[in-house]
Amino acid sequence: MAKRILTGDRPTGPLHLGHYVGSLQNRVKLQHEYDTYLLIADVQALTDNFEHPERLEANIVQVALDYLAVGIDPNRTKIVIQSMVPEITELTTYFMNLVTVATLERNPTVKEEIKQRNFTRGVPVGFWSYPISQAADITIFKADLVPVGEDQLPMIEQAREIVRRFNGLYAPVLIEPQPRLGAVARLPGTDGGAKMSKSLNNCIYLGDSSEQVRKRVMSMYTDPNRIRPTDPGRVEGNPVFTYHDVFNPNKAEVEELKQRYRAGTVGDVEVKEKLFHALEQILGPIREERNRYAGQPEMVREVLVEGTRQGREVANETMRQVRDAMGINYRFDPQVIRLTNMGFSANRDHNWLIVNSLSGAEEDNIAVCSRCGLTRSAHEGKVRVFRLKRNSFHQIDSFMHEGMVVVDMRITKSNPCQPPKKPINFEEIKNLATSQSDQLL
Ligand code: ATP
Ligand code: MG
Repeated sequence: MAKRILTGDRPTGPLHLGHYVGSLQNRVKLQHEYDTYLLIADVQALTDNFEHPERLEANIVQVALDYLAVGIDPNRTKIVIQSMVPEITELTTYFMNLVTVATLERNPTVKEEIKQRNFTRGVPVGFWSYPISQAADITIFKADLVPVGEDQLPMIEQAREIVRRFNGLYAPVLIEPQPRLGAVARLPGTDGGAKMSKSLNNCIYLGDSSEQVRKRVMSMYTDPNRIRPTDPGRVEGNPVFTYHDVFNPNKAEVEELKQRYRAGTVGDVEVKEKLFHALEQILGPIREERNRYAGQPEMVREVLVEGTRQGREVANETMRQVRDAMGINYRFDPQVIRLTNMGFSANRDHNWLIVNSLSGAEEDNIAVCSRCGLTRSAHEGKVRVFRLKRNSFHQIDSFMHEGMVVVDMRITKSNPCQPPKKPINFEEIKNLATSQSDQLL
C-alpha cells in the first residue's frame, strides 16, 4: 500500500506565500508518490474564531481554490473537510487521556500563538489543547508523512508521543508520523514579523490581484534605520531581501541589489519593484488557475464532497481498529439477549435463525434456516418465540456473537427443509441484513 500523507490548513482565510513555500510545493510534488489527504481544519479554526463560525464556509472554498490553483490534483489528492469527519472528535477525546496538562503547557508554538492572539477572556481550552486534536487528525488517516512549516514541528512531536503511548497501552494500530519541512521552513511576514500568518494580517495571498501584490510589496517593512536611499542599509533580517532570496530566480540580480543596498546606492522602491516582478512570475499563473476554478463552483463542491467521503472511509476503519484495541467495541444490542428457539411440530421443519437488523425491529430482520440455508425476511412468517433446545446451544453460540437471534417461525409446507446444495455462507447473509438495515436507518 502506498504510504500516506496527511496535512492541512485552517480555513481562517485564503492561503499565502508562506503556505506555498512552507508546505504546498511539497504537497504538489509528493501527491504522485503518496496517498495524499488534505484536511481543511474548520474545527481547529474555530478554536480561536468561535465567535465567527459564519466565516468558515466561504473560507473553506477559498482554501480549496488555492489548493487547485497551485496544482493539487483532485483525482489523486483527497481534500477533506474536518467537521464532516466527526470520528476525529471521538479520537481526540480518547487522546486527551494520554496527554498531561504540563506537556500542553510546554508546547512552544501554542505559547507563542497565545501571546500573539491576546485572548481577552483567557485562553480557551479548545485552543490550548489543539495539539491533541491535530494528533487525531494525523493519526486517524494513518499518515506516514506530514509536510508542514516549522511552527508545526512541536505538533508532530506531540502526535508521535501520543501514538507511542496509545500503541504501548492498547495495541499497535497507529502510525508515528514524520514531518517534512518545505523549501522555506518559516517565511517572515511583510511586516518583518517572524511568520507570515493569516491571523496577523502580514500576508501576500496567492489569490491577490496584481495591484494588491504591488501595494503589499511597496508597503513592506525594510531596514527601519535607513532614512534615505543613500544611507547604507541592512540586508540581514530585511524581509524584502529574504523574499528576493526565496522567490527571485535571478540570483545575480539579487546579489547586485544586496551590494548596492549595503553601499547606499539603491532605493527601496527599485528593490521592491524587482521583487514585485519576481513574485508576479510565480503568482500570475496561480492567479489565472484560481480564477478558472472560481468560475466552476459546482466542480469545487464535488471535489470537497468526494474527498471528504473517501477520507471518512479511512477514518471509520481506523476508529474500528482503535475501539478494538481499547476493548470498547461492545454493543449492547437488545436483540442479542433474546435467545429463543422452537419445539417440534409437523408443519415446522426449518430451524430459523434471525439475523438481526440494526433497526432492531423484528419485521426488518432476515431469517435463515441453520440447516438448509433458506433465507427469507422475517415478516413473511409469523414470528413466535420459544425456548432454545438444549443441544442446539453450542451450534448457535457463534451466531450469537455476531448479534444474531434465534427464533421460531411458522412456515408453510411449500419450502421443506432440505440439505443445502452448497455450504451456507453466513457472512453473506449477515451483509444482506446489514445493507437492509442501512436502508432502514
Ligand atoms: P493562522 O494564522 O490562522 O494560524 P497560518 O497562516 O498560520 O494561519 P495555518 O493554516 O495555521 O496557516 O498553517 C497551515 C500550514 O502552513 C502549516 O503546515 C504551517 O506550518 C504552514 N505555514 C503557515 N505559515 C507559514 C509560513 N509563514 N512559513 C512556512 N510555513 C507556513
Ligand atoms: Mg497557524
